[in-house]
Amino acid sequence: MTHLAVIGAGITGITTAYSLLKKGYRVTVFDRHPYAAMETSFANGGQLSASNAEVWNSTSTLLKGMKWMMRKDAPLLLNPLPSWHKYSWLTEFVAQIPHYRANTIATTRLAIEARQHLFDIAASENIEFNHEKRGILHIYRDKASYDIATKTNQLLLDGGLDRHGVTPSEIRQIEPTLASNQLYGGYYTPSDSTGDIHLFTKGLAAACLKKGANIIYNSTVTGFVPKPEGIDLTWSVAHSGGLDADSSNDQGHFDAVVVCAGVESRAIAAQLNDRINIYPVKGYSITVMLDDEQSRDGAPMVSLLDEDTKIVTSRLGRNRFRVAGTAEFNGFNRDIRSDRIAPLVAWTRRYFPQVSTEHCVPWTGLRPMTPNMMPYIGQGHHQSVFYNTGHGHLGWTLSAATADMITNQIGTNLPLAA
Ligand SMILES: Cc1cc2nc3c(=O)[nH]c(=O)nc-3n(C[C@H](O)[C@H](O)[C@H](O)COP(=O)(O)OP(=O)(O)OC[C@H]3O[C@@H](n4cnc5c(N)ncnc54)[C@H](O)[C@@H]3O)c2cc1C
Repeated sequence: MTHLAVIGAGITGITTAYSLLKKGYRVTVFDRHPYAAMETSFANGGQLSASNAEVWNSTSTLLKGMKWMMRKDAPLLLNPLPSWHKYSWLTEFVAQIPHYRANTIATTRLAIEARQHLFDIAASENIEFNHEKRGILHIYRDKASYDIATKTNQLLLDGGLDRHGVTPSEIRQIEPTLASNQLYGGYYTPSDSTGDIHLFTKGLAAACLKKGANIIYNSTVTGFVPKPEGIDLTWSVAHSGGLDADSSNDQGHFDAVVVCAGVESRAIAAQLNDRINIYPVKGYSITVMLDDEQSRDGAPMVSLLDEDTKIVTSRLGRNRFRVAGTAEFNGFNRDIRSDRIAPLVAWTRRYFPQVSTEHCVPWTGLRPMTPNMMPYIGQGHHQSVFYNTGHGHLGWTLSAATADMITNQIGTNLPLAA
């Protein structure tokens, strides 16, 4: 039976493993953590959002970005220290501006397609992931930002999305808990939804095990030797809970490997003579624990995106409210900065004054972002190497579709019985 290795047990790796298993392949997944979804797929914004499919490669986003950088609570931060990776990535990002329109429409279509894949998986595997199908509401504080949004909206409509403008009084009806008296207007997408990426990925990893997958945790894949047929991998296994340097090496032969390694995919690709330019764009979230009745009633059920601060929200069941934001260009730094968490807490208090922020759980994650903000799905130089990675700010939204795309590509290259 054709045996495939998948590197990464985040949302992209686990959806890929599931899709390959369904097709009839034998699958082994590797992850350096002891559980699935412990990096960027842990506590993200929760939005399954075709309405956030706009790529950022536009002059207006660049201008907004420069304005933002002057603010103390800026949603965009750039560490100016020299770094070849950062500045070469930014140069490529700017060079993609001419493709803004086409890439936004393509991402919208992919996001719409991905929804049904994800809903079908959740239904057939019985995965409970705090799914809320109540739409996503984008809010704007002034006419200027609303007018820009109106132009973007046309691209989303061209991509097939159902999204319409709403007045402040309609906003109040859609989400009564939002303190919305200073808003100019909004755009609402009823078909968008939200859910807990960590719960979903964990549930799907369990489904993969039932379908016969081997998931090797605590193991970092370090060596890649492509052969005329297949590829040899070496991995280092951390013992003693990873607390000390106690580890051992193991190796094996696979018919092919699929790299779904998030922000590490670039370094792995370089070892395989492929170039995939992924920059780690850092973001933060808080999970507000709704410990009392007033907070539970005062937190929104409808998901929001505040354009002025680029903050997104999701209601995760009755007891949790997720608030996420910030795009920070600061390499692989994973420190949780209190000055980045404070604006998320302050925003929650401003818009949801009934919600107690006494108990907030902070988190940070690195978005695996390509310069054109499109995921990289395809074969590498070597015939036994495939990639499904680089999903940037939309990995939760897109993964269920890209997993099937890479599986179909593998299917045309590798017969099921090797
Ligand atoms: C603040 C924030 C908010 C976000 N909000 C949203 C949102 O609302 N909606 C949305 O669609 N997306 C959102 N995203 C983006 C989304 O979370 C990511 O695109 C997605 O989680 C990336 O998944 P991944 O599988 O590519 O990476 P990861 O989840 O990071 O998984 C990669 C895995 O590979 C493993 N790995 C790497 N190298 C190796 C190796 N050599 N050997 C073994 N294992 C390895 C890692 O341990 C990791 O578990 C957000 C991101 C952030 C940071």
